[in-house]
Amino acid sequence: MNSWAEVSIPPVSSSFIFPTLSLFNSSSERVEELPKKSVYRMYVCGITPYDATHLGHAATYITFDLINRYLTAAGARVHFVENITDIDDPLLERANRDGVAWQDLAQSQIELFRGDMVDLHVIPPSNYIGAVEAIPLVVNAITRLQERGTIYPVDADLYYEVRADPQFGTRAHLDDETSERIFSERGGDPHRAGKKDPLDCLVWMSQREGEPGWDSPWGTGRPGWHIECSAIALHYLESEVGDDYSIDIQGGGSDLIFPHHEMGASQAHILGGHPFARLYVHSGMIGLDGEKMSKSLGNLVFVSKLVASGVNPMAIRLALLSGEYRADRMWTSSQLDSAIEFLDELRIALSREETAPTSHVIQEIVNHMSNDLNTVGALESVKSWVRETNRGSTGGSPGELSRAIDALLGIAI
Ligand code: ZN
Repeated sequence: MNSWAEVSIPPVSSSFIFPTLSLFNSSSERVEELPKKSVYRMYVCGITPYDATHLGHAATYITFDLINRYLTAAGARVHFVENITDIDDPLLERANRDGVAWQDLAQSQIELFRGDMVDLHVIPPSNYIGAVEAIPLVVNAITRLQERGTIYPVDADLYYEVRADPQFGTRAHLDDETSERIFSERGGDPHRAGKKDPLDCLVWMSQREGEPGWDSPWGTGRPGWHIECSAIALHYLESEVGDDYSIDIQGGGSDLIFPHHEMGASQAHILGGHPFARLYVHSGMIGLDGEKMSKSLGNLVFVSKLVASGVNPMAIRLALLSGEYRADRMWTSSQLDSAIEFLDELRIALSREETAPTSHVIQEIVNHMSNDLNTVGALESVKSWVRETNRGSTGGSPGELSRAIDALLGIAI
């Protein structure tokens, strides 16, 4: 799958000190430091292409872009892999509802998503992998799980025994009753007759009438969602000799903690022979004017529609950065208006020949971002610099600050 256009990242002077990046790990439920490394392996779960790109998606991909930017600016390389679930139940259901071919729906939404990512200055993944193109990898992964005795059939479908992984449950911290309820709400089938455990997950679904299918040793069918990500992540992210984990960061929205990341990590632990991710990092959900933003409520706000109405995508990014990435938060039009206004003030301040000193501001931005992506603190530092500049303070290098804001926050003026 083609990724999207490269985003240029200006260099940040090596005179600034980059503290170790700390991030909240959903698995340990505390903020942890990433060990210093030269290469980090990050896997972020992509969209199912039927409703790209609403603000919840945007907030998620901007969050992991901030991680990518921080580690890159600190001198490391980030091997970033993202998938796109271009075959799954919700895509087929939406295509049926709208009377369009599922391939056409997927293609149009993938194009829209790519354009939105470029507009929002999200650095593209090194490998952007679709579920359909990954089917051989999935078949291989299921075969290996089968060899380890963790796969069983229910009718013509195949299931994975999630508790084969002794660490199952340690990422989401839910009791069985809650797990079953959420699993059911998010497309799972805890009550299907013939399953050994209600939480066992589908890895291969035999072809249903009127649905597409691909060849496999178990007949024509299609992959389950969780195995898709385990297979892609383990294939594309190189393992490191001596590392205790298969990858460094597994990322996504907080609605993926369970079942998706718990089940994917369970499969990947068996497949990779190591615990899957060092850190499980999740961004919060975005609501609209006091309500949860959801497909069923029909209140999704789309990036492409805002941009088409004349909103600068940098203002959308800035508005999303004005909240804490981990918090569930509301999107309001006044938040966007404030971001538009601040972007203008910032542009004017940065265009002045004389500005307030900038070096300490850049170091503050770096420090805030190293502290679990504290964008609120980073923006406060920038705002106070704008106030100082407007008061006539001098001695700064606006070009250097502009490059740092671009490199670290992804806001290009
Ligand atoms: Zn995933």
